[in-house]
Amino acid sequence: MPIDATLPYDDQNIFAKILRDEIPSKRVYENDYAVAFHDIAPVAPIHILVIPRGSYVSWDDFTARGSDTEIAGFIRAIGHVAREHGLVMPGYRLLANVGGHGGQEVPHLHVHLFGGKPLGPMLAG
Ligand code: 5GP
Repeated sequence: MPIDATLPYDDQNIFAKILRDEIPSKRVYENDYAVAFHDIAPVAPIHILVIPRGSYVSWDDFTARGSDTEIAGFIRAIGHVAREHGLVMPGYRLLANVGGHGGQEVPHLHVHLFGGKPLGPMLAG
């Protein structure tokens, strides 16, 4: 069920628990501002989620409230993970779902990083 991206942050969401190590994840990278881990249900050979350490519901919330330092640290983390996984030359895709029409299910900002095969059309259907 997609979330309402205008609601306040809920610190019991699944990615908040992953950040606090209350539930396990397969981390591939972290810096002061971001954590990256494998998606539990990958839809591409490489499917990594990158999340900010800060409490932000969505891309909208982050770009409105996040500091320049947090935003830079987060975006640099995404680029770093893509490079570390050898994705720049073959190419890759980034996706951030926001709210209902975006199909966002987890109310903590996450950017999907997909790669490892030609990814096809931008949107299904
Ligand atoms: P959204 O639809 O919100 O953009 O994407 C949420 C993503 O989180 C989905 O791709 C889903 O597979 C992933 N996900 C949901 N729960 C967990 C979890 O407990 N661990 C990990 N690693 N990924 C999760």
